[in-house]
Amino acid sequence: MSPPRPHFLVLTFPLQGHITPALRLARRLLAASPDALVTFSTTAAAHRRMFPPPETTKPQDDGRLELLPFSDGTEGGFVRSSDPQAFNGYMASFHAAGARSVGELLVALAARGRAVTRVVYTLLLPWAADVARDRGLHSALYWIQPAAVFAVYHHYFRGGHAAAAAIVQHGHDPSFLVRLPGLPPLALRDLPSFLTESTDPSDQFHSVYTAIRDLFDFDPLDDKDAPKATVLVNTCQELEAGALAAMAEEYDMLPVGPLLPTSSGDDEAGLFKQDEDARYMEWLDGKPANSVVYVAFGSLARMEREQLDELLRGLEESGRPYLCVVRKDVKAELLNPEGTTSAGETDAGDKDGMVVEWCDQVRVLSHPAVGCFVTHCGWNSTLESVACGVPMVCVPRLSDQRMNAWLVEREWRVGARAEVGGDGVLRAAELRRRVEEVMREEEAVRRRAAAGEWKRAVADALGNGGSSDRNLTAFVRGGGVSVGTGLQA
Ligand code: UDP
Repeated sequence: MSPPRPHFLVLTFPLQGHITPALRLARRLLAASPDALVTFSTTAAAHRRMFPPPETTKPQDDGRLELLPFSDGTEGGFVRSSDPQAFNGYMASFHAAGARSVGELLVALAARGRAVTRVVYTLLLPWAADVARDRGLHSALYWIQPAAVFAVYHHYFRGGHAAAAAIVQHGHDPSFLVRLPGLPPLALRDLPSFLTESTDPSDQFHSVYTAIRDLFDFDPLDDKDAPKATVLVNTCQELEAGALAAMAEEYDMLPVGPLLPTSSGDDEAGLFKQDEDARYMEWLDGKPANSVVYVAFGSLARMEREQLDELLRGLEESGRPYLCVVRKDVKAELLNPEGTTSAGETDAGDKDGMVVEWCDQVRVLSHPAVGCFVTHCGWNSTLESVACGVPMVCVPRLSDQRMNAWLVEREWRVGARAEVGGDGVLRAAELRRRVEEVMREEEAVRRRAAAGEWKRAVADALGNGGSSDRNLTAFVRGGGVSVGTGLQA
């Protein structure tokens, strides 16, 4: 009997920063093997936003890609509220309903002759591996943060390493240095925030802490040929050799990234609508090379009025042209008491700047006029900047962003981390200072040269026969079952 056609079910949490790399992986899986099938699945509410009818159920890529939602037990997904436990409550429903619904999806797909051969799941779905195993299926975690962050979590949750105790004991001291095998000494301020701020059940993101803990409770389907859990990582060997090597004994680590949009870029469905007229691209066309400061803090970060004012003032005082993303929902939160939006005030007016609600970030970063990216260091934004060779000013807040900033500043030397005050506000003067540091002549030349080298390294990794390309191809050709170890070399 011939082996079944490889069919990957790619599952993801309904956040833009998770959906983006998951969809890009789905596309790459299809491209890597003309035989492969992919079903991409996120929650029903996110699915409706991403794929409004008639896109909703339309088979894509000659039917090789299907877009099918699963249920998180709610009608409209997570809704922000003033209740500090709202997110934890949502997560409880997400886990229970999600596991049930994905189980049903697997049965339904098999019943219509499209049986899944391997489940691939991103962060925050710790139950996905259990659902797969219960049905005799292999699974692979797709880690969408740096390998270094994976290594930290591994040591914390599974390593039995004294560092975990040290993190708990010194959690109040941001400069305390932790030594973990295979990683340089790290200050607590650089570690994932969920380990230092969310261990208490009363914390609003405690459910993220427990979901990551449970994710590390790997128990893959028994496979004597490949006894280790497979972890696809959105990074590449060249960017993170040390952290990948440190985990290779425990896991089948497969760096397959950094995954970027396909060259056409038009298949990037997402939760946000881009500004209708892409005037910002024309505006960029009119600027000299490496002159523009691009500013964006991803899909989740909130912003107080004071922060926005400081940000725009710092940009204006820098005297450089800037393109700044202020999301529609952030603007809406800044509604003044009269109920008229303060959007007018966020307009750069006659200043040499432009404010947009959402842009095509990869296109912007690829534009030769962009000389610096002021970023919150979400992993996607960080990778996109590295792949485009753009130096960064890092303003990390949550989750892995602090470690991503550490990689940018200390490991790759393509950026500088800005300090925020005790009140969490990035002041205009500090922003101006860091932008100058990254863009002023002599420093800029060094950083841009480093950024250019990383850009080439990443392009090589992704190109035909490059390290990430080989890993992905081997994974797909493995027919949806494990491919063994050592592919990252
Ligand atoms: N992004 C975009 N347009 C914008 C701002 C952001 O396309 O105006 C994209 C960006 O390219 C990235 C994603 O949104 O792929 C944000 O993911 P990231 O991991 O950087 O941050 P998160 O949103 O998860 O905090």
